[in-house]
Amino acid sequence: MEFYTAVNCMDGRVQLPVITYLQNRFGATYVDMITEPGPNRLLADQTDPALTGSILNRIKISVEKHASGGIAVVGHYDCAGNPASEEKQFAQTRKAVELIRKEYPGLDIIGLWVDENWEVRQLQLDDR
Ligand SMILES: [Zn+2]
Repeated sequence: MEFYTAVNCMDGRVQLPVITYLQNRFGATYVDMITEPGPNRLLADQTDPALTGSILNRIKISVEKHASGGIAVVGHYDCAGNPASEEKQFAQTRKAVELIRKEYPGLDIIGLWVDENWEVRQLQLDDR
């Protein structure tokens, strides 16, 4: 596949780690980056319908125009946009993944966590 999609934080510290992870893991050439401050919280809580719609619309462009092979929702350590605990962020990321799965049941939708060393790992969302 050429493209993969990331719903990532705007934080500059997590851009390259997420791109590199998705390239290595899925063989993506390009990563379409959809950024907001703490997007896992925004998609889990959906307190701003316009913003939720904006994120979903950008995912749609990536999926439909770039034939993206999958979508990752990212949470990270020391997030200014989402000060929730790591455990709470996992729950939010799981909720966000479930929301996107409803829109794209045929696509691989995963949750990622970027830790205090800026290392990326996939959340085993179904286990928690
Ligand atoms: Zn952040």
